[in-house]
Amino acid sequence: MVGGLDPKLKRALAERVRYYNELGIYDFYRREPAETPSTIDDAVIEDNPVIQPEEREEMTQRSRAVAVVPVVPEEDLFEVANSTPESSVIDPAQALRMIREDLGDCTRCRLHKQGRKQIVFGVGNPNAELMFIGEAPGADEDQQGEPFVGRAGQLLNNMIKAMGLRRENVYIANIIKCRPPGNRTPERDECETCSPFLMRQIAAIKPKVIVALGAVAAKTLLAINAPMSEFRGRWFDFRGTKLAVTYHPAFLLRDPRQKKETWKDLQMVMKELGLAIPAKGVE
Ligand code: URA
Repeated sequence: MVGGLDPKLKRALAERVRYYNELGIYDFYRREPAETPSTIDDAVIEDNPVIQPEEREEMTQRSRAVAVVPVVPEEDLFEVANSTPESSVIDPAQALRMIREDLGDCTRCRLHKQGRKQIVFGVGNPNAELMFIGEAPGADEDQQGEPFVGRAGQLLNNMIKAMGLRRENVYIANIIKCRPPGNRTPERDECETCSPFLMRQIAAIKPKVIVALGAVAAKTLLAINAPMSEFRGRWFDFRGTKLAVTYHPAFLLRDPRQKKETWKDLQMVMKELGLAIPAKGVE
C-alpha cells in the first residue's frame, strides 16, 4: 500500500510503476537535483570520456554524498521489488534464466546501437555466497559474452584463487551489461536503466557478501559519491547484504603496489565468509 497518498496520485503512480515494470524496470529512485562539480578536477573526471577505469579509481578527492530518495515509501518499494516475474521462484538458476529472458536483446539505452556485440549478463554459481561486481564489459568481454575475461579478468581470477576459491564458486557481474564505446565510463542514465537487472540478479542469488570492484561499482551500488579511501576497509549494508569495496583489477594492473591493500580487503571478506586465510596474497 502507498500509505497517506492522494488516491488519484496513488493510481497514477501504480500505473507508472506498471509501465516501467513492462520495460523490465522494477526499482525506482528519485535523485536530488544534479549537483555541480565542486572542483574543476571533479568536473574533468566526470565529463572526460577518455579517462580509463584504472585512472578514474583514485582521482575524485572530494566526498560529496548524493542523496537518493525513494519516490515511494520504502515499504512500498518492497512491494514493487517483490513484483518481479521471478520473485516467487525459489531456484536461483531458474530466477536468473527468467531475468535473462526478460532482458532480451535489450535496446533500453543507447549502448545497443553504439557498437556492442552482445549483452554480458553475468557468470558463475547461482548459489554463490560471494558476488563480485565490476563496472562494464570491455572489448574481450563484449567479444566473449562473459564478464572479466580479459587481462583484468585474469587478475580477478588470481584474487579469487588467493581466497582459496575458484571462479566457478562465485558469481561475477557488472553494473551495466553492454560495452560503452571506447570503454568510457558508463553514463548515469545507462547505469539507472541497466542496474535494475543487476538488482534482480542479486536478489535471486542472495549472496552473503558482495564485493564492489572499483569506484564506479561502489558509487552506483551505494549511491554515495566518495573516494576509494572512504569506501575501502569497512562494511556497507546493501539491502541487507554485506558489501565491501576494493580496487578494480584494471587499476591494479596499472598500480600493482596496491595489491597488498587489495589483499587486506579480501581478507576481511574471507573472515566474514569463514574462509581460512593463507599467508600468500594476490599475485
Ligand atoms: N572491467 C569491468 O569492470 N568488467 C568487466 O567485465 C571487465 C573489465
